Amino acid sequence: MDKKIEAHEVAKAAYEQLINEGGMSRRDALKLMGATGGAAMFMGAPTKAEASSSTDKKVKIVIVGGGAGGIMATARLRKSAPNAEITLIAPNETHLYQPGQVFMAAGLYTQSDIQKKNADLIPSGVKWVKDEVTTFDPDNNKVTTAKNGDISYDYLVVATGLQYDYERIEGMSKDLVGKNGISSVYLNDPVAGTAKGGVVTAQWFRDMRKAAEAASPENPIHVICTQPDTPIKCGGAPQKILYLSDDNLRGNGPDGGSDVSKNAKFSFCKKGTTLFGVPAYNKTLVEEITPMYGNITDKFNHVLRKIDPENKVATFEATIQKKGKYDEDLEEYEIITSKEMVEMKYDFIHVVPPMKAVDAVANSPLAITKGSGKGWLECDFDTLQHLRYKNVFGIGDILGVPKGKTGGSARHHGPILEENLVSVIEGKEPKAKFDGYTVCPLKTQYGEIMLAEFNYEGIDPSFPLLDPSRPRWIWWAFDLYALKPMYWYLMMRGLM
Ligand SMILES: Cc1cc2nc3c(=O)[nH]c(=O)nc-3n(C[C@H](O)[C@H](O)[C@H](O)COP(=O)(O)OP(=O)(O)OC[C@H]3O[C@@H](n4cnc5c(N)ncnc54)[C@H](O)[C@@H]3O)c2cc1C
Repeated sequence: MDKKIEAHEVAKAAYEQLINEGGMSRRDALKLMGATGGAAMFMGAPTKAEASSSTDKKVKIVIVGGGAGGIMATARLRKSAPNAEITLIAPNETHLYQPGQVFMAAGLYTQSDIQKKNADLIPSGVKWVKDEVTTFDPDNNKVTTAKNGDISYDYLVVATGLQYDYERIEGMSKDLVGKNGISSVYLNDPVAGTAKGGVVTAQWFRDMRKAAEAASPENPIHVICTQPDTPIKCGGAPQKILYLSDDNLRGNGPDGGSDVSKNAKFSFCKKGTTLFGVPAYNKTLVEEITPMYGNITDKFNHVLRKIDPENKVATFEATIQKKGKYDEDLEEYEIITSKEMVEMKYDFIHVVPPMKAVDAVANSPLAITKGSGKGWLECDFDTLQHLRYKNVFGIGDILGVPKGKTGGSARHHGPILEENLVSVIEGKEPKAKFDGYTVCPLKTQYGEIMLAEFNYEGIDPSFPLLDPSRPRWIWWAFDLYALKPMYWYLMMRGLM
């Protein structure tokens, strides 16, 4: 057996054994962490500020949002503020493990693999209001819900995540996902608990393969993968889909097959002129991964603005730089920058939607009012405390911080938020500092992940002895088999 596949099988068997022995207890999970050299991977290294303080004050804490950040905050505060009256306002009966949507697309998970009942995650003693907040009124320490009227608080945690904005692309809507060659792995409905994007993108992989089998190098199929010009959650996911769908054409997906990748041409269209904002990771992608495929053209500074699904034409706003006149004094050419609308035909397109803060936050006094962060929750980048409303904190994607909209970041927000909120309840200054940690387990091909970890300052590898810019099968095996149980049984219980 191929060494790589054998190692996968061994890792898989070990994880499955642990998980199947009567469900994964904390002890099992900790054993697993030991067996794999640490829990750090993907969701991040043990955080630098594991909260230890607690308060016995009888205060009212309201947490809004029952996704990754909201459940983690609830679990942590339940323990460190045992006498507090904690209310979770969350409309969703089902909780989605969203990172698993990419493995759904790759044909390795199904929707049921990434769902759990929220009721099973919410700690006992917490009041769950199954509702949505429509208005935040921090001047009066209350929120208004859609069905349950006003709810007041002493302390508020905002964990609403973000929302998709497909309609910002002219002609696009979420209803088009799954039709006319259009896919979008991100699409999900957290309230209904469905991950349509994963299901549809798996079919898109299969349809693309079928089309490539019928094509030829002279008459190839055209595939476009896009990334918008807004902040997005999991900034690596657009490239994960690019590489995995191409690798599937090489016959490396779960259905195998011959290599038909020469019958396809891929364009990756994004804002900016790099594939990844951190130079060490960018270098690997530019110098090794893109050339390895041989059929990918990176179209930098191309942002999708319009789509014509009937005719399969996508229109991009392209920022183009051309050489102007030669300047004798400076001994260089003048650079002329212009914007053009560029039409590109496609057979298959993966659309990553523009993303924005949820309306209830963006339209409230809690939001940043101007600049590039407009609409996101205004907070101190280090302490995660609201800059103007000192009894308000945030966690997860909604935060108006410069780095990281990932579950891994939310895991690092958790202990900072806990420590600082407890301090504020106790009348002290918040001292714990978030370092900007984020992580992107970038799937560069089936069986390999480049574990791109970084923070406000630069790269931040959990295993500095292993060059973090190298894609490795061990990260793939860990992501596929271990992280999901760790998410459910450790992170969601506030244990890591
Ligand atoms: C395709 C994909 C791949 C990803 N891959 C990775 C990865 O590999 N690694 C990684 O670390 N992260 C990854 N992520 C990102 C990760 O899932 C998110 O960063 C994480 O879920 C953020 O947690 P959150 O609590 O802020 O938001 P969410 O988990 O989205 O939860 C927000 C919750 O708030 C609720 N809500 C919204 N508005 C209101 C309101 N007004 N009132 C009450 N409730 C409200 C929503 O219903 C939702 O349940 C991926 C995400 C996707 C979609």
